[in-house]
Amino acid sequence: MNGHASKEPIVRTKGLVKRFGQMFAVRGLDLVVNEGEIYGLIGPNGSGKTTTMRMLCGILRPDEGEVYLLGSRIPSFKVLRSIGYMPQENAIYDDITVQENLCFFGRIQGLTREGINENANTILELVGLQGKRQALARDLSAGMQRRLSLAVAMIHQPVLLLLDEPTAGVDPDLRISFWKHFKELSAQGTTILITTHYLEEASRCGRVGLMSQGRLIEEGPPQELEEEAHAKTLEDAFLTLVGKGREEG
Ligand code: ADP
Ligand code: MG
Repeated sequence: MNGHASKEPIVRTKGLVKRFGQMFAVRGLDLVVNEGEIYGLIGPNGSGKTTTMRMLCGILRPDEGEVYLLGSRIPSFKVLRSIGYMPQENAIYDDITVQENLCFFGRIQGLTREGINENANTILELVGLQGKRQALARDLSAGMQRRLSLAVAMIHQPVLLLLDEPTAGVDPDLRISFWKHFKELSAQGTTILITTHYLEEASRCGRVGLMSQGRLIEEGPPQELEEEAHAKTLEDAFLTLVGKGREEG
């Protein structure tokens, strides 16, 4: 159970609000994600998914509301090393190698050299970069840089993964292997909060939350959302529910 003893959800937000000038990017978000869950945040561009992720990992300070991770109100140094955050824009260093990126992020997270090497093998295999250890990050293809970005977010085996569009620009076969790994991690108790544009991916989540204009307008297991919208696919459900959300706006 990853040493997390209490029954507190892994992620809990209360009334989160973030404004940019007059514009509400997030308006009153209450989100709960439980241990071992894969929770997918989906929604149109600009609906507030990335802003939510940034508030969860402490990069952005909410204008209103609270964030609790693993039972601690953030910002909290105590939980930082329990979180792996993969931002929407790659967060890797261009002018060092794949191996050096993993070492750098591993050291920041307090791992020993042995610990880094041990984890690096598994992770490089997962993201298909075993043969690229000595390559400079800037020489990797866009897809490979994305994969390296996922690898550095996971090097310290966090109990909570915040993944902002981790599979954008990643080949379909690799996307499938990412998902296989996400499922395995979740079965071992790792909690994953993920945003995605691919609705076939969203349908693999235990629960999805549908964001529109900074609000969570629907939430539940993918099949329930399909039934609720009387839709055959999550894609159709999504369009119906977002349309409904706009009308109620
Ligand atoms: P999503 O990830 O769902 O596409 P975002 O959270 O990136 O949405 O953006 C939500 C809204 O907030 C958008 O209208 C976006 O333009 C705006 N926004 C996001 N970040 C900033 C910022 N740093 N300054 C001003 N506006 C921003
Ligand atoms: Mg985004």
